[in-house]
Amino acid sequence: MADIIDGKAVAADVRESLSDSITTLKDAGVTPGLATVLMSDDPASETYVSMKQRDCEEVGVDGIHVELDADAPAQELYDTVDELNADEEVHGILVQMPVPDHVDTRRVLRAIDPAKDVDGFHPENVGRLVAGNARFKPCTPHGVQKLLEAYDIETEGAEAVVVGRSDIVGKPMANLLIQKAPIGNATTTVCHSRTQDLEGHLSRADIVIAAAGRPAFITGDMLKEGATVVDVGINRVDAENEKGYELVGDVAYESAKEVAGAITPVPGGVGPMTRAMLLYNTVQAASQQTGIEIDLA
Ligand code: NAD
Repeated sequence: MADIIDGKAVAADVRESLSDSITTLKDAGVTPGLATVLMSDDPASETYVSMKQRDCEEVGVDGIHVELDADAPAQELYDTVDELNADEEVHGILVQMPVPDHVDTRRVLRAIDPAKDVDGFHPENVGRLVAGNARFKPCTPHGVQKLLEAYDIETEGAEAVVVGRSDIVGKPMANLLIQKAPIGNATTTVCHSRTQDLEGHLSRADIVIAAAGRPAFITGDMLKEGATVVDVGINRVDAENEKGYELVGDVAYESAKEVAGAITPVPGGVGPMTRAMLLYNTVQAASQQTGIEIDLA
């Protein structure tokens, strides 16, 4: 029976450890500020943004929220980003993805000042991450690293399999795991939709990071005995409850926990970590931009 990796508890520890840094910044006259920009009618995106704003309030980060009509001209979004880039009280900018089809996603990501790009998606920040000199680590893979660290999971020399190759999870996750750095040094395989023998790769994995967006498709029988399983997936599946749906991960939790050595639940695993690391990156951004030194773990 696997140990349950408690993302809520580790996220609370991260938030707690940020409070000293926030106090240091405030004592020096700086309140970290995070701007969220929403250009979407998607209820899930609306929920994500409101949770991020609530998180800010809880830890004493200034939350600035800008909402644009989903059918507004793309230029309005580019102009909004320019204004936030110029605003000294804004240290971090997050444009909630996906943006509507008529907006050029790459242009939006390039428009954000790399110093304020707390998602870490600007090409300059992607390049720095790959080069082993990250300015901001993207929130979800950074959160996964914190979970592995908190539970003393040895990554050095381990066989890690990342399932998924997206720009926001799979690729940066693999890049972090191969770094010659703490919570790195793993022999890392990236599997994706064209992978021929996913089960063969999984059967060798000491660490599995599942980020494919396929409900419960990794089952216990595919895993190596004692593996650490980090389930990034958040999938809405129909359910007979009040909401009409429930959230499930990419891993079939009940069968996987019988084989794994440690496993994250969904919800309550990676999700809270992603939110905590956004606050972390915002506090780090405020320090970098003002030159006020803080001690971030
Ligand atoms: P995405 O759709 O951009 O990428 C999915 C990736 O999975 C693709 O690279 C694809 O090649 C791969 N894939 C798809 N089917 C596969 C299969 N059968 N076998 C192997 N690989 C396969 O998704 P994403 O944005 O990376 O998100 C992945 C999942 O993680 C989603 O469920 C998303 O909701 C969730 N997510 C969770 C958090 C969090 O905080 N917990 C953050 C971001 C994303």
